[in-house]
Amino acid sequence: MADKKTAPDGPHEFGFETRAIHAGARPDAETGARVTPIHQNTSYVFESAEHAADLFNLQTFGFIYSRLTNPTVSVLEERLANLEGGRAAVCAASGHAAQFLTMFTLLEPGDSFIASKNLYGGSITQFGHSFKKLGWTCHFVDPTPEEFQRALAAHPGAKCIFLEALANPGGLVVDLEPVAEIAHAAGIPLIVDNTLATPYLLRPFDWGADIVVHSTTKFLSGHANSMGGAVIESGKFDWAASGKFPGMCTPDPAYHGLTFHETFGDFGFTMKARAVALRDFGPSMAPMNAFLTITGTETLALRMDRHVQNAQAVAEFLEGHPAVSWVSYAGLKSSPWHALAKKYLPKGAGAVFTFGLKGGYQAGIKCVETVDLFSHLANVGDTRSLIIHPASTTHRQLTEEQQIAAGAGPDVVRLSVGLETADDLIRDLDKALAG
Ligand code: PLP
Repeated sequence: MADKKTAPDGPHEFGFETRAIHAGARPDAETGARVTPIHQNTSYVFESAEHAADLFNLQTFGFIYSRLTNPTVSVLEERLANLEGGRAAVCAASGHAAQFLTMFTLLEPGDSFIASKNLYGGSITQFGHSFKKLGWTCHFVDPTPEEFQRALAAHPGAKCIFLEALANPGGLVVDLEPVAEIAHAAGIPLIVDNTLATPYLLRPFDWGADIVVHSTTKFLSGHANSMGGAVIESGKFDWAASGKFPGMCTPDPAYHGLTFHETFGDFGFTMKARAVALRDFGPSMAPMNAFLTITGTETLALRMDRHVQNAQAVAEFLEGHPAVSWVSYAGLKSSPWHALAKKYLPKGAGAVFTFGLKGGYQAGIKCVETVDLFSHLANVGDTRSLIIHPASTTHRQLTEEQQIAAGAGPDVVRLSVGLETADDLIRDLDKALAG
């Protein structure tokens, strides 16, 4: 999908790269500072008692206290909403905090939702265990349109579908368009975790998603130096027509009976996520982390192009290596998700994927211990190339059967391919895989 449509005599729409550098930011009005300043500041002076009252009643926009809004964080929020093609965004302390804010805004105690089985392991734990304590039940399914349809028939009260379009860690791609149609036919929103693709490779709103969440900790900040998360709404979901979201459509006693959908229309969800969930639970993004993430977004397009190029080269090398039994990268023609990747990720299938070693568990251990350039650690989306053997680390508490079901069997190694010279990465892996 073209990011830039320019007709010589028609309206001009800025391209992705331009927006990644400029959206949401302007020179500082007081000082002229060109780079967005770090507003390392908790609170903001009211102009008058009336101004203070209006701010607290949500009758005017402005800054009160940095748990709710902060000028540096606001720039990032506007930029991410712009890059995703959404209406509004709220940032959070981490990706998990963003997921919590989203679900707290949508769900009531006793509610359920449907999620893909192929999620980052931490999300499976958050949804399956911690959310249970809040009275929310998650039904996990294989992320195909048929399975989502079946799950909705079995759980007609479910309040949303949640998935990773490009999934961590197996590099699986979900057929977003029909899943969005299935969610909408049931009157519920589709929520997409777009962390691994980023809006440069995939814009879920273009395919019918209603809410996008991010761990900005990964490719958006891009340099493994700041935690963060974001929730972005498309502005297109009709909460009133759905009839399933009393929290959005009935008067809120904490705001003198204000109704979020009626008052704020196409950014009512973001307003509620901020004015209730973020206010009352407090997982706000730190201004310094927003500053680092803003800097990261400025080079997102350049970095993602190189991440994808390097990942493709490394995946092709591994596919031809005698010690490797399989490679799960949607950019490879052999991948069952290659056709979906061509549709949804025409610029490339990201840079995080898994492969299997014929030598099993011991070969996996040897591989992570022998590499030099790849760093052995639990993260993805760094400029540096990263490697992990899930069975001996992130998934070691599970039985072998559970590990295999989670795509983390004893033979599996996960890579997050960085921005180094591709040939150096290939040499490093070749050495680690040698007999
Ligand atoms: N979503 C995905 C796809 C992730 O990979 C991660 C973390 O690895 C998260 C969410 C959670 O994000 P955070 O670690 O910023 O809380």
